[in-house]
Amino acid sequence: MAVEKVFWNNPYQTELIAQVTSVTDSVVTLDKTIFYAFAGGQESDRGSIHGFTVLKAEKKDMEIFYILESGHDLKAGDEVIVEIQWPRRYRLMRLHFAAEIILEMVNQRFNKPEKVGAHIAEDKARLDFTWEGSISRIFPLLEEKAREIIDADLPIESAFSDVATEQRYWKIDGFARVPCGGTHLRKTGEIGLIRLKRNNIGKGRERIEIFVD
Ligand SMILES: [Zn+2]
Repeated sequence: MAVEKVFWNNPYQTELIAQVTSVTDSVVTLDKTIFYAFAGGQESDRGSIHGFTVLKAEKKDMEIFYILESGHDLKAGDEVIVEIQWPRRYRLMRLHFAAEIILEMVNQRFNKPEKVGAHIAEDKARLDFTWEGSISRIFPLLEEKAREIIDADLPIESAFSDVATEQRYWKIDGFARVPCGGTHLRKTGEIGLIRLKRNNIGKGRERIEIFVD
């Protein structure tokens, strides 16, 4: 089964009426959802389904499984309200796109170094690379180029490259399409001020930590 992912059509929607399609103990599935489940390094949303806290959201193929707190009384066919915590989601979206831009700048200007990790949390995003020496020497250039893109407040196009397999991409003017199934902002200006911090994680790997206000 595949849940309809309304968070792609409208990543700014915070409430949705949906129908429960299955219930197995604490695990429910829905016909449509705004509640993002961890994928591509972007953490899951927090929120509730019909007032019951979602403890965990798990994406498997094109389906999303929601694990609810104990004591729920939901049944297949029930109409429910899905709610997400917007301040958290919006920070995840802003940090996600900040990381997208930094990654693109690194790839374009430093010959695509090997990316060995990426994670988007609510407080910061991180990108890990195989890298010789301190990666902080490229920060002034990254920050300057990212600032230009953010200040230009460019529209971000986000769409399917393949509907059947739910492959998504984003694109801004001057960039090639970048494959990604995360939730993206409408405009680059929403990122606001960014700050980079180096973290030497050892074994020839360097981490860029990304912060937004
Ligand atoms: Zn993305």
